[in-house]
Amino acid sequence: MTVNKPVVGFETLSMRGVTRTYGKGAPALADLDLELARGEFVALLGPSGCGKSTALACLAGLQPLTSGSIWRDGLRIDTVATEKRGFGMVFQNYALFPHMSVQKNVEFGLSMRRVPKAQRQARATTALKLVQLQDHAAKLPSQLSGGQQQRVAIARALAIEPEVVLMDEPLSNLDAALRIEMRTEIKRLYQERGLTVLYVTHDQEEALSLATRLVVLRKGRLEQTGSPEEIYTNPASAYVAAFMGYRNLFTARVEDSGPGTDVRVRAHGAVIRGSHRAGGAVPVGTDVTVAIRPEDLTIGADPTGNSVRALAEVVEYQGRELSVRARTDGGAVLHLKTDQPVVAGSVLTLGASPDRVLVYRGGAEEADVAVEPHD
Ligand code: ADP
Repeated sequence: MTVNKPVVGFETLSMRGVTRTYGKGAPALADLDLELARGEFVALLGPSGCGKSTALACLAGLQPLTSGSIWRDGLRIDTVATEKRGFGMVFQNYALFPHMSVQKNVEFGLSMRRVPKAQRQARATTALKLVQLQDHAAKLPSQLSGGQQQRVAIARALAIEPEVVLMDEPLSNLDAALRIEMRTEIKRLYQERGLTVLYVTHDQEEALSLATRLVVLRKGRLEQTGSPEEIYTNPASAYVAAFMGYRNLFTARVEDSGPGTDVRVRAHGAVIRGSHRAGGAVPVGTDVTVAIRPEDLTIGADPTGNSVRALAEVVEYQGRELSVRARTDGGAVLHLKTDQPVVAGSVLTLGASPDRVLVYRGGAEEADVAVEPHD
């Protein structure tokens, strides 16, 4: 059954087995199952080309599905026209009409929906107030800064009073300071308006700070979904770890495994203890990928004795902490963050708790991440 009404009062939007293939190549999106519950802020995350925009475009009706279906609760909506799906949309390039005033731009979606003039004006004014641009209504987009233009685009999306807002890299054209300001703005609007948001980004920090749930894509497939905390502290694969800022990534060889998730690995001449995330055992003698966050390396040995010696090569001052690049005796480069004083040229003992040394089955190619070879 299909609907011809806007999406109202839904509980769940579901993409089921959605595949989108462009031309003859591999699918940009492959058999994606994705549920969006009312009130969620879901960030679709992954490197460029992993299929994020395609997923959003399929949900929006901007791209046809090669196979699969999209549902609003029990109703199938992938055959419903884009403007009838009732989604507000915000894109990276703002897509404002240059010859129309800010007010007219915001009213545009309402005109398309044949909302009467008085109501249209009132709703546009409310939306402009929400993004604090009520004093700029008569201006042309070119008279506004990038951040203000993006706020107009957000106001336009909100003016149709959507229950679902789809955003595709909405902040990537803004400079760093504005990006952070707009991030807070989006979060405020989400909280105040009780929106449901699907947000495409390649920026893990943005995803972590905004979303209630992250969905990480890899080559058009769902790699992991979970709360920001889950994904940040417990990435399911080296691919996700790499994306979540586990900057120290190595291929290593398993020396000893068990009990439980304990594993001892050798890399660059050093033996370290870690915790494997493979599910099941990691056989002795096999290649694994080790992932450690810079924040999880400490200066001084870990109480368990897990440590390596390294020479501090580069020390960068970053306000509250230092970012240090060090080289181990075996030649491995390690990145760490510390609030302790470190001088370039000094020899450090670096420790890591075994439960923060994450070990994944398979070496570099399998993990799809750039790592250094072991010796
Ligand atoms: P992301 O948003 O994660 O960067 P996309 O969904 O834009 O990824 O792209 C996924 C894959 O599909 C890429 O390999 C990209 O080149 C391809 N692709 C995207 N849009 C088109 C298109 N309109 N025509 C052909 N190929 C496309």
